[in-house]
Amino acid sequence: MIYKQKLYLKTFGCQMNVNDSEYIIGQLVKLGYSTTEDIFKSNLILLNTCCVRAKVEQKIYSLIGKIKGIKESNPDVILGICGCMAQKEKENIFTRAPYVDFIFSPSQINNLEEIVSIIKCAKKKYISCENTPEFSLDHLPIKRRSKISAWIQIMRGCNNYCSYCVVPYTRGPEQSRGVSEILSEVNNLAKNKYREIFLLGQNVNSYGNDLSQSVTFSKLLELLNDINGIERIRFTTSHPKDFSFDLIETIKNCHKVCNHIHLPIQSASSKILKIMNRKYDIDYYKNIIKEIRDNIDNISITTDVMVGFPGETEDDFLDTLRAFKEIEFDEAYTFIYSNRENAVASLLPDQVPLELKKERLGKLIDLQKEISAKINKKLEGKTFEVLVDKKSKKHIENQFSGRTETNKTVVFISKQDLLGQLVEVKIIKSSSWTLYGELIE
Ligand code: SF4
Repeated sequence: MIYKQKLYLKTFGCQMNVNDSEYIIGQLVKLGYSTTEDIFKSNLILLNTCCVRAKVEQKIYSLIGKIKGIKESNPDVILGICGCMAQKEKENIFTRAPYVDFIFSPSQINNLEEIVSIIKCAKKKYISCENTPEFSLDHLPIKRRSKISAWIQIMRGCNNYCSYCVVPYTRGPEQSRGVSEILSEVNNLAKNKYREIFLLGQNVNSYGNDLSQSVTFSKLLELLNDINGIERIRFTTSHPKDFSFDLIETIKNCHKVCNHIHLPIQSASSKILKIMNRKYDIDYYKNIIKEIRDNIDNISITTDVMVGFPGETEDDFLDTLRAFKEIEFDEAYTFIYSNRENAVASLLPDQVPLELKKERLGKLIDLQKEISAKINKKLEGKTFEVLVDKKSKKHIENQFSGRTETNKTVVFISKQDLLGQLVEVKIIKSSSWTLYGELIE
């Protein structure tokens, strides 16, 4: 097939967006497009956007501004904006950048073929941001980025309304995907030799609550655990308030469900957690961690945390530092709080000055780096099963990397191409974020 149409697609944000981009590419390939990394060679430019943080949104608007020149020199180039920022900003994008041709929300991704055809024929601006009543990706073409590990969206949207977050406004209420649709997709992946699946949702623990069929997230994991060919099952994100004992039992009993839990803490001050509307306090959170560790051997736990939420005093921040020392997460994704329009927290008094937020972030990163290094040091000399998923990014000859069941990145040398294989690697050296090992032949 000769592809005359070139697509330049830039994706911002979370895995859910990256997976949406896989569906976008799948549909556009069907329409005769191939992808290009060179924006100047493209006929169609698509920005799959994110609006979780103000900084990312500014970056996207700045990129849209830069694309104006490309559109001026070649008016046939089509520019589309999709993703969460498209849903949040809607017509505002046309106001700020009148040269944008079309805008569509995440729930309209399965209509992309139709949207692009309309744009090409009608040659007028188009916006499609309605939330669809049913969440289905059935039979939608997809071009996955990996042949080893596949992302599977099991639900979309969120009902939680954390006071800092705009996701419930951009992705709408929780919508679970039907069990049979998920099982059929995973069975197909197994037939196509995929080894790992990564279940995605804003709050996977409440999977099934909105379905007429009585099914919980734990039940879904059990069903997926029975699919031959799939070796590893991962999931994200879990909300602590919905993390059940049932789920702990399932992770313990289903041997394919990996020993890694990502459980966002966000803050360790109960006062701040209340204003964040997280619906748990720090004692509740610590108790879940204890239950997890008491019941599942060799589990790794990672988290998300935010500093500088409005009203966060020095004492609140010290609570977070203390909890980090006590819990000892394997890794933490650390963020500075930023105001988001529509989110309740943007109206709160006592906003923390940026310099202070940066200072707190620095202290937390330094502490976590120390903790991660300490945890990883203890793994030296041990042997782990590693799913090999990458060749070295640094182009070091014969260098591969993969992940342990606990989601630690392991780098090692092999003369054989081991991509997609499960191998045994003995750890000989470690740093805060990476383990270095020797392949056990
Ligand atoms: S749980 Fe809270 S932070 Fe996560 S998507 Fe929902 S509202 Fe946002």
